[in-house]
Amino acid sequence: MPNDVGSQWNAAELVEAAREHLISPAEEMAKLGTVTRPMLTTGDGVYVTNAQGRRLLDGPAGMWCTQIGYNRREIADAISAQALRLSYNSPWYSVNGPSAELAARIASLTPGDLDHVFFTTGGSSAVDSALRFVQFYNNVLGRPDKKTILCRIDGYHGSTHLTAACSGRAGNRPNFDLALDTVSFLSAPNVYRRPKGMTEADFLEFLIGEFEDRVAAIGPDRIGAFLAEPLLASGGILIPPEGYHRRILDICRRHDILYISDEVVTGFGRCGHWFASEAVFGITPDIITFAKGVTSGYVPLGGFALSDAVLARVSGENAKGSFYTNGYTYSGHPVSCAAALANIEVIERDGILAHVRDIAPYFQEQIRSLKQLPLVGDTRGTGLVACVECVTDPAAPEATDFDKEVSRRIDHHCYELGLIVRPIGNMCVLSPPLVITKAEIDSLIAILRRSIVLTQDELR
Ligand code: PLP
Repeated sequence: MPNDVGSQWNAAELVEAAREHLISPAEEMAKLGTVTRPMLTTGDGVYVTNAQGRRLLDGPAGMWCTQIGYNRREIADAISAQALRLSYNSPWYSVNGPSAELAARIASLTPGDLDHVFFTTGGSSAVDSALRFVQFYNNVLGRPDKKTILCRIDGYHGSTHLTAACSGRAGNRPNFDLALDTVSFLSAPNVYRRPKGMTEADFLEFLIGEFEDRVAAIGPDRIGAFLAEPLLASGGILIPPEGYHRRILDICRRHDILYISDEVVTGFGRCGHWFASEAVFGITPDIITFAKGVTSGYVPLGGFALSDAVLARVSGENAKGSFYTNGYTYSGHPVSCAAALANIEVIERDGILAHVRDIAPYFQEQIRSLKQLPLVGDTRGTGLVACVECVTDPAAPEATDFDKEVSRRIDHHCYELGLIVRPIGNMCVLSPPLVITKAEIDSLIAILRRSIVLTQDELR
């Protein structure tokens, strides 16, 4: 029988096995085999427990995904029942119940006419598939040159060949070859680090002007899509100026450029709504990608929802004999889809979206209160996602290595005091499970505040 660590082996043996054999998605190769990552063993609600038995509040909800929290019997039961009923079928030749129901459920949750869904295995494959659909679409429409993807510096869209190319974060790139010939990068809508002397209103005009100039320079007949997170999550919770998405969507519509809203992080409740594109940012894009929160991270699943109007241009009599193949073995995997259906049911039954809308103002107010501390340059967020940006020299235009060291130290203190935060460069990013209570927010903020103060004391 597996023990608490989920294995026949004990924690020490497993730590050793990981050191010897496991390659993580973020590996400092010079230190391969020498780094010991904390081993987590169990989870319950907003807490996880490590192999030493220490309970930790899960500030990032895994990796922006554990919406309904850990140890939910409903999801485990749904997974188990479907694994026994029908563990797999080929989506090429047959259809399974959970995938059909989930496609219909998601179609009812997305804005506008985004009524068709393609399932993948996670966020990278969701975005990759959406981008490949753009290629398919323009080829069928006889526009083989309309392929450039516009995206933003500091955006993150995944780790496939194509999605990594669209990810404008320098840290994701060293020593990989990227499909950069198909991508054009625009400025990050980083209000905090906007050019000196610009008001927020001027900054919006600058971003829109840059977009229009880029479209003119490349030529609209060479641009297939604009790919954008509603808020740049891994880029440090960058929330664009009010009106940004709406105005860019207008430009896209004028030039027949598809608008892909990457809701891998914001989808399924993070901002208090099923999707943020329309409810928070006022746009109905052509494609929405999702993953993570769709199953609350219990099992892998991702996908994209597509507008019927767009689909109609390359299907039926407009298909011109084309065959759409994006041949994922696990597209619409029955066990993953069953987990997603159970997850959606829990979110609905427990009123979790309304809970997020109720509690988010308190969470954001508490986050903002940290701004008074000396090492904090900026705080920002919306819904249940926030960032504390560490800045030691407010005059420096970029974060310094020292700022990054500050966030690492804060992270370290938080861990010692019982909170996981996600340090990204000089930023501590938080996106707790959506079921977090007011008392748990108080505990999170108290630990974060104490850790910032401890770091401040160390640096004196
Ligand atoms: N898109 C966004 C906005 C993300 O934040 C991520 C991952 O964090 C991805 C795509 C890639 O998702 P995955 O890691 O599930 O492949």
